[in-house]
Amino acid sequence: MKTKWGGSSPQRRTIRLNLELAKKDIECLDYIILHELAHFIVANHSERFTALLDRHMPKLAACKKAPQ
Ligand SMILES: [Zn+2]
Repeated sequence: MKTKWGGSSPQRRTIRLNLELAKKDIECLDYIILHELAHFIVANHSERFTALLDRHMPKLAACKKAPQ
């Protein structure tokens, strides 16, 4: 996992996280975990998905940019 902060597989009930997250603020880690958990409810990045994230955590632009 070199190009994403994380990934989720609702079918397998797993979430994988990029170890580079250890270098980020705890708020970023919270955001990424929330993002991956939200995929257990909404599979894509639709408006419903965005609304779900916004409802539980304000947008953190610095956390959204994945490592290259
Ligand atoms: Zn996603």
